[in-house]
Amino acid sequence: MALSFEQGPIRPPSEAASLLLRLTRNCPWNKCAFCRSYKGETFSRRSVEEIKNDIDTVVKLCRSVREISRKSGFGGLLNLDMLIKLYNSGDYQLFHVASWLHNGGKTVFLQDANSLVMKTADVVEILKYLKERLPSIERVTTYARSSTLARKSVEELTALKQAGLSRIHVGMESGSDEVLKLINKGATAQQHIEAGRRVKQSGISLSEYVILGMGGKQWAREHALETARVLNMINPDFIRLRSLTVAEGTPLSQKVQNGEFEEETEAEVLTGEKLFIEHLDGIQSNLVSDHSMNLLEEVQGKLPADKPAMLATIDRFLALPEREKQNFILGKRWGVYRVLDDMRDPSQYARVAAALDRLEKEGKYQATLSYLKNQVI
Ligand code: SF4
Repeated sequence: MALSFEQGPIRPPSEAASLLLRLTRNCPWNKCAFCRSYKGETFSRRSVEEIKNDIDTVVKLCRSVREISRKSGFGGLLNLDMLIKLYNSGDYQLFHVASWLHNGGKTVFLQDANSLVMKTADVVEILKYLKERLPSIERVTTYARSSTLARKSVEELTALKQAGLSRIHVGMESGSDEVLKLINKGATAQQHIEAGRRVKQSGISLSEYVILGMGGKQWAREHALETARVLNMINPDFIRLRSLTVAEGTPLSQKVQNGEFEEETEAEVLTGEKLFIEHLDGIQSNLVSDHSMNLLEEVQGKLPADKPAMLATIDRFLALPEREKQNFILGKRWGVYRVLDDMRDPSQYARVAAALDRLEKEGKYQATLSYLKNQVI
């Protein structure tokens, strides 16, 4: 029987090369109005014993991968041919472990949405075991909710850091209490600040996720200003930008239908992004745009040095004639463009312009944009 261990469905894009190890299942909150990640799933805990058994299984899979490599004439090495062979074997977990080893076997992401809800002592025990059994590991990261982190002492977080937890990814979404209430985040601005500061004090690297457009038309300004204010109080290592997509079947889509939430246009979202970045002050965070949903993916850099360049890029878009803005938006959502400069390719520009004309004639421009946006969640 094939060896297997438990894995969850979600990880941050920055953990694409990491080994995924599941500490808890699904999300203990599962009520954010915009989120469909774990809808219909029930949160449950896993025992320390179960998780240690999974780590043992990963160790065995590492041995199997090397053994297969030797038997296949690759001398225990993990080259591309070897990976293709394992991929074609249909054993997903063997392939996952092989890819991880191929990438150096150095990073691990602990799933699912909020595993630090476990007792700190249990997570410490798991982290120590992980490092003991897989000594090549250099970085271990996880998601956590601010409401959970705000209940942990700096001493507890320091113990996690000493046991090997390197980075925590927090879904802040907004620093505005009005917006946090609207989206039922289950955390306040003050909890975000408290949690973020404690993580920073412990020495664990901190990523805070912000959703552009999350305030809708009503709270756009408040969302930008308050989110900047809260981040200025934390000074996280990373601020990671996401863009709002209203997914069907979520409570937020219900709010859109009954008029409680009005989405901003793409240009309005960028105006909010500009206001937000303008007000990031006195911090040295890396602003990262690591999701293709962000209209201007090139707006990223190190604060404060890169702030003028980031703002200039947004201004460049906002100054475009209306038709060119539409051309870029459609081209970006369609996957033709990645950055603004891609519009300079005359053949690509003409291709998007022709599609834009046709969609408008058929009255399908907005519907097509919504469809394309929903494809990349
Ligand atoms: S805490 Fe995260 S995973 Fe859970 S419902 Fe909210 S956004 Fe979704």
